[in-house]
This record gives sequence, structure tokens and C-alpha cells, in this order.
Amino acid sequence: MANPANNRKMTEQEILAFFDDAINYEYIYVCYQPKINHVTGRMIGAEALMRMKHPVYGIQMPGDFIPIFEKNDLVFSADIFVCELVCKFLRKCIDMGLTPVPISVNMSRYDIYNHDYVEQVESIRKEFDIPVQYIHIEITESSAIGGMELMTDVLDKFHELGYKVEMDDFGSGYSSLNVLKDLDVDVIKLDMRFLTGDIGGRGGAIISSIVQMTKWLNTPVVAEGVETHEQADYMKSIGCNYIQGYLYSQPIPEEEFIEKLKILDHEPVAQSMDLVYSIQSGRFWDPQSIETLLFNNMVGPAVIFTYKKKEDRIEFVRVNDKYNKEIGMNLSAKEMLTFDLLSSLDENDKIVLKATLERAIRLGDEETCEVWRNICSKTCGDEKVLIRSNIRMIGRADDQYLFYAMVQNITADRRRYDILFDSEKKFRTASEQNNTYAWEYEISTKIMRPCFRCMRDLGLPAVVENYPEPVIESGLFPADYADMYRDWMRQLAEGVDNLEAVIPLTANRIPFIVRYTLEYDENGRPLKAYGSATLVIDNT
Ligand code: C2E
Ligand code: CA
Ligand code: CA
Repeated sequence: MANPANNRKMTEQEILAFFDDAINYEYIYVCYQPKINHVTGRMIGAEALMRMKHPVYGIQMPGDFIPIFEKNDLVFSADIFVCELVCKFLRKCIDMGLTPVPISVNMSRYDIYNHDYVEQVESIRKEFDIPVQYIHIEITESSAIGGMELMTDVLDKFHELGYKVEMDDFGSGYSSLNVLKDLDVDVIKLDMRFLTGDIGGRGGAIISSIVQMTKWLNTPVVAEGVETHEQADYMKSIGCNYIQGYLYSQPIPEEEFIEKLKILDHEPVAQSMDLVYSIQSGRFWDPQSIETLLFNNMVGPAVIFTYKKKEDRIEFVRVNDKYNKEIGMNLSAKEMLTFDLLSSLDENDKIVLKATLERAIRLGDEETCEVWRNICSKTCGDEKVLIRSNIRMIGRADDQYLFYAMVQNITADRRRYDILFDSEKKFRTASEQNNTYAWEYEISTKIMRPCFRCMRDLGLPAVVENYPEPVIESGLFPADYADMYRDWMRQLAEGVDNLEAVIPLTANRIPFIVRYTLEYDENGRPLKAYGSATLVIDNT
């Protein structure tokens, strides 16, 4: 009889001697741990976790006996046995009239060496007549290390048969990204315990960039090992709603799990982004890939962001260094990923940006907009920058859209234009009142720039080259005064200031007082001449 006083970890030898009995008498059994959508409170699935209970030494934990199973080539039999128990359980649920949730079983990396793991799982599933969507397979990154071909082979076989495959313990290895881009898994399980400590620091930044990245890979994420509300809320805030951990439930025995199945609503795992363009998203996240190289070095300032319509949020997925420089933002990677772009816009610009996104969605084309962004910096205070973005939609999922944008900070251009526009306006009002036309003549280049009024009333272009020949030719300037006027230009070049004469202008020969004054450079040489023509008012 079990006596808690005898409870202890079994030795390797005891475990090996016990193994056959453990299977034959079901001392090996399964506990279930629910996976929950933290936002809706519904169950999306559960994981089957192996337990072993010795009649004398009590419950043994998998961390202690599975490595021994693995070492002695027993884990395959144990895993297949777990698969049988799970199928038996699912059959019982279905027969009871309960709708089950998908149950994931753990595959050991040793299961695929010299074993027909896939075939055996499939034959058990058929034996119990379980719809394939109710069984998921959890694989680990480490199964792939050293045996990528074997691994992709197993993955393909499961996919062909219709099984969903989950990548367990993602983020524990160093080569996570490299493994992911080659393995087409359906769900990623991100273990919080690998990234513990403060979620506000490096751990948090890693988690949030992994979650953002997985959105790109079209792959839903389940956060595992979630023990606190703080962790769950943090995961939610970065867009990961699926949670498995002590916060919701410990692994529980079958009977208790059936009760949970009865009271909790279920829902399927939602698929994420569908990429519109055939970007190799795996390669895009590979730090060594050509795609990354292109994004970071070959293009100008660029950003990838998600527009969440229902939540009315725009979140960055990825920016390149040039983007940060161009916009003048100094957010950390984590701040960047949790930042809502819409919150940095004024109401009117929000409307402009959203309308542009809608257009890009509707037309599938590149769309442009210019909006003012409020940039807050702890060191320099608030500032407004005008950003021109060329935006293209590259992916979508339900009410979420993924965009690629190339941006340009046009604040300085705009300011120059405003100043110009402003002085032009003042000048125009003044000259309208005086019946005066004005222009600027650059001596070294013979370029003339007329005022707005000259352009409007006299049909002059914004820039007149080889001045004054074109205006003489057009008849705007009378032919009989042409030589005198050419001589004025020579005099201006020599530095003669304050030229003035009455000249009949236009085809109608209207008399104007034409005047020039000079502007000199720092060496005292003539640089520009300012011309004006004021209507001679006949007071008689
Ligand atoms: P795993 O696949 O990562 O399973 C999750 C482990 O985390 C389980 O430990 C679970 O009880 C534990 N866990 C769940 N939520 C929390 C939490 O909020 N906080 C903490 N601290 N832990 C949490 P368990 O049951 O001891 O299993 C350990 C490992 O043993 C599993 O890790 C898996 O790698 C392996 N294992 C379990 N069952 C099987 C099996 O049937 N076959 C194979 N091959 N391996 C199995
Ligand atoms: Ca697992
Ligand atoms: Ca895990």
C-alpha cells in the first residue's frame, strides 16, 4: 500500500525494473493541463502530461524518469502508451456526448530514431476512431538539432495525415529562428520560464519580439508556464492571448479535466496573418538572410506595422535603423513594439492615415500620405515631425492588416515651404496694393524668378533662364528697349546699383517704372538683383 512516508525519487534501476508493470497496470497515466484564451476565458486545448505512480514510492515526475526512459530506449513505448491513453480518453468524451478540445501529446526526439512513430500514432487514432483535429503533436526544437531531415520528414507526414504540430519550448535554444524558418509548425509554445525575471527588461523585449515575429510567420503562440496575472496581462498586451500555466490550472487528472470540459466554453485557435505577397517570411526573420540584409541596409527608412481595426491600434512589427534615425525616435526595442502609432497623431491626422490604409487595402496599391507625428523624448521634450509614408499592404487576418511603409521625414522641407509661402504672401499683398510686379535676377546664372503675380498676370513660368531674352522674344518686353535693357544687365553684373526708367511693357505698351537694386556677396561682388515694375498712374 502507498504510504507517503515511503515517497521518494526512484533510482534508475528501480525505474527500469518497474517499467513493464508501469505500462501493463497503468501506473503510467496522464494529467491534462488546459490551454486558455486569456481574453475570452475559453479553452482552446490541453496538453497531456505523463505521470508515473509507484505503489510504494509514490508519484514520480517526468523530469526525473523521462531522461531515464530516453537513455534506455523506453520513451518510445511510453509515448505511444500515452497516445493510447489520450485516444481512449477522447473516445470516452465523445461517447459521453462531450465536445472535446484538441489534446497535444509530447514527442521525444528519440521517438523518431528507428521508430515508426507517425504510423503508430495514426493507427491508434484510427483504432479509437478519433477525428484528427483532436490530436496535436508537440515537438521540441532540440528534436531538430542534428536531424533536420528526419524532423521535416516527420512533420510532413503528420501534416499529410492532417495533424497539427506544435513547437514546444520555443525560445529555449539558440538557433530558434533558424529552426523555425525550416519547420512549418502550426502553433508555437513560448515558455515564460526561459525568459523569467523582469518582463519589463530584456526578457520582455525578447518575448515581445518573438511574438511579433510569429505573427509574421502566420503562427499562433501559446505562452506556457504562466503563473501570475502580471505575466498573463503582459502577454496579452503584446498580442499573445493563449495561455497555459498554473495561473489557470495545474495539470489535473482525467476526471477533474472532464469537469472543466463541461463548464468551460471552447474555441478553436485562430489562424493569424495571411501573407498577400509571397515573401519568405521565415527568411525575413533570419538575421543572416538576404531579406534581413535588404531591409536593414539596402532600403531607406522602412517600417512594418500591424493595423488592428477593431482595437483601433497600429503596432510596429519591425523597423530598420534608418527608420529610427529618420524619425528621430529613441525608443527601445520593447517600447517600440508596444507603442501605438495612432496615439502619436492628432485627430485629423489619424483620419488621414486610416483613410490611406483603407485605400491601400482596397486597391492593393502603394498609397502615400503625410501626417504630423508627435515625438516625445525624455531628453528633448515633445516635438512634431511631418512624415511622408509610401504604404503597401502585405498581409491580412480577419480585422488585422500588415503593412510595409517607406518613410521620409519632410519636416524641414515643409518648414522651408511655409516660410517661402509666408513671405510670398506678404509680398503679394504688398505688391497688389502698389500695382507692383517683382522678380529676382541671379547675376551669375542669368536666372530670373518672378513673383506670384507676374506668373498669374503675365503668364511667366516660375523660373526663366537666360533672362531677359525669353521675355524680349515673347513681346512682354518691347523690342525697341531691348538693347538698353541688355545693357542694364551688364551694368548690374558690374555692380551698378539703382537703375530706373519708365518702360512700356506688354503688347499693350503700358508704362511702368522699372527699377533694380542689387544685393552683394561677402566679397562685395554683385549677387542678385531685385527688379520691380510699378504701374505709372496717370493723375491727370
Ligand atoms: P513540457 O512539455 O514543457 O511540459 C510542461 C511542463 O511545465 C509540465 O511539467 C507542466 O506541469 C509544467 N508547468 C505547467 N504550467 C506551469 C507553471 O505555471 N509553472 C511551472 N513552474 N511549471 C508549469 P511536467 O509535467 O513535469 O513535465 C516536464 C516535461 O516532461 C515536459 O515539459 C515534457 O518535456 C516532458 N514530458 C511530459 N509528459 C511527456 C510525455 O508524455 N512524453 C514525453 N516524451 N515527454 C513528456
Ligand atoms: Ca510539451
Ligand atoms: Ca513546454
